[in-house]
Amino acid sequence: MAALPSMPFLSPCRRAFLAGSLSACILPSLSPAQEEERQKPATNDCPRCGGLKRVPLKNAKPFVWLKDDPPLNVETAVGVQFCPQCQMGNDPAQLLAELQEQVDAAVAKNLEWEERTGFKLLLAVTHNVTLHTQLTAEQARAVGKAIETFALHLARVTDSLLLTPTRPSRFGLMVLWEKSSWTQFRKVMEGLYTREQLGESWTSAANYNSYDHFVTPHMYETPESVRTRPPTVGSTFIVARRQLSVATSWRAPFWLSEGFAAYADYIVHKTNRWFTVYDPSRVPTIGDWMQEARRQSSGGKSRPWNKLFDREVRDFAPADYSQAMAMVAFLLESKPPDFLNLARKLRARQPQQAALESAYEASLTELEQRCKRWLVARK
Ligand SMILES: [Zn+2]
Repeated sequence: MAALPSMPFLSPCRRAFLAGSLSACILPSLSPAQEEERQKPATNDCPRCGGLKRVPLKNAKPFVWLKDDPPLNVETAVGVQFCPQCQMGNDPAQLLAELQEQVDAAVAKNLEWEERTGFKLLLAVTHNVTLHTQLTAEQARAVGKAIETFALHLARVTDSLLLTPTRPSRFGLMVLWEKSSWTQFRKVMEGLYTREQLGESWTSAANYNSYDHFVTPHMYETPESVRTRPPTVGSTFIVARRQLSVATSWRAPFWLSEGFAAYADYIVHKTNRWFTVYDPSRVPTIGDWMQEARRQSSGGKSRPWNKLFDREVRDFAPADYSQAMAMVAFLLESKPPDFLNLARKLRARQPQQAALESAYEASLTELEQRCKRWLVARK
């Protein structure tokens, strides 16, 4: 495989290095708005919709609209309905207007980025994300579809929008082509933000290929990178991680957000090819991490859960990646409503072990045993 620029990924305050072309890059510090969100007191949300006032539409179709496509038909594109518990009697036409507004806002942002950068940028909009990109239309559509595949999976499993909280008007992902564009884009960002807003890892990120900026995460692909993995891989990972961060008000511990993002890669691609690493000598193997976790678990090689809880990226060993992903898969798939509860409890600042044990009404030891059995049964 060709050697590619690797990327550092920074978790909230630590520097992380990515090995090869295969990992992701996370980021610096929270924006003032995110910090404000963290400080908000927990509210008594509607139990059906979690306070979002919307729930998934049954049988929603994947929605990806490119700006060169025929005009959007919002009626077939809407993926949500009003919450039947707290939003009775609202006019569904409002939801169509909302989607149109989101798409219009995405188009305006796209034009703004074209002006700022001087690039021709394709636009792809999904229910949750705006993609501004130098990829081909075919690649952009594939990325949008991958993002939608995971969003619809979450909606189907949880019957909730709690784990897909971002909207295209407010969350844009920039996917560039070749390092020269990346370098030029970074100059544009430097004109838009102060050093502090760019994050403490901004300077070191110059040598890497993905940076999860709090407003506009950005990355680039190259002819070599897309030969080794489709451009859907990194985008799916970064978008999934952002969904959980927003859903928990940025309080998900590292194992949970890394495991959740890896789970997205697994659901979409059935192969894990993207991760965040600190030490390039401790890189996980590429492949089917569910199978890997099953092997670890049946061989008695899994780490006790509480030993994983406070591990940051710099502490992660290769086997921790597949274990974290399998833990997320188990927690989400075996008891979806409990997983939503876990997210709510973390958002409300409960410590992770207490949040887990109360959300699942089980001790940690019991959960570990259940996970072990679940892994054997899940094929
Ligand atoms: Zn509701």
